[in-house]
Amino acid sequence: MPELPELEVMREVLEARVVGRTIREARAYRPGILKTVEPPLDALAGECSRRVTRRGKHLILACRDDLHLVLHLMVAGRLVLTGSANKVTKATGFVISFADGEDLRLVENGTAKLAKVHVVRDPEDVEWVARGGIEPLGCDFAVAHLVRLFAGERRQLKKMITDQALIVGIGTAYADEILFAARLSPIRYANTLEPDEVERLDAAIRSVLGAAVERTRRESGGALVGERRVEGMAVYKRTGEACIECGQPIAEIRFAETRTFYCPQCQSKGKTIADRRAWLRR
Ligand SMILES: [Zn+2]
Repeated sequence: MPELPELEVMREVLEARVVGRTIREARAYRPGILKTVEPPLDALAGECSRRVTRRGKHLILACRDDLHLVLHLMVAGRLVLTGSANKVTKATGFVISFADGEDLRLVENGTAKLAKVHVVRDPEDVEWVARGGIEPLGCDFAVAHLVRLFAGERRQLKKMITDQALIVGIGTAYADEILFAARLSPIRYANTLEPDEVERLDAAIRSVLGAAVERTRRESGGALVGERRVEGMAVYKRTGEACIECGQPIAEIRFAETRTFYCPQCQSKGKTIADRRAWLRR
């Protein structure tokens, strides 16, 4: 699933390549991908996107003050710019055709088709845009937010920082990277953190996401790339490889239906986390 860094770079590419181009037609190819009925899809025809913003994992194309197209790519969604004359494949769920003969297509390979499209008057009409937590790279994100979020929270750190109602944009891959950079165990309870540990986590959130945005931007070369590369990741999908810090092997546990990668030496006082412990809730 694309996370904040990939989506932020997609936003930049869309801003550069889509803004100002007149929309000839918008069309949903997969039943169910369009989650709204009013305003109708036809309302986009003749409009052009004036700016592209991102809220958490949502990409928002603003056509008018009261007309927005909100995209959520979910697990496997990708955006592709291609000539309108090119065949629309089975994987294509949604298409914006520009008057100049190019399409912006939302494509989902595989069986899990979960991407969502909303046409709304106000982006806040989309539930998770309205309910989303703090933007971690926003200038108003501060240690004080984490202190407030963690106070009295007997929930494990990985669950906390991937909870979109608290902090937006961080998924399982960057959560592992952030917790490694902060030298904190993914199963630590949030309310047990010392002030210096909260500060480390705050710094890690900014540095890991910031560096990932730069890396993704460099690698994308101005194209709409949604794939995340494991190169440049310290622990994510590196089970058994030597930790870049201590040289010990990276370990993996199942955690809340996802895989979690960590360094036992750096993050867990040398101890391997037992899977069953990770399954305990609260
Ligand atoms: Zn290590």
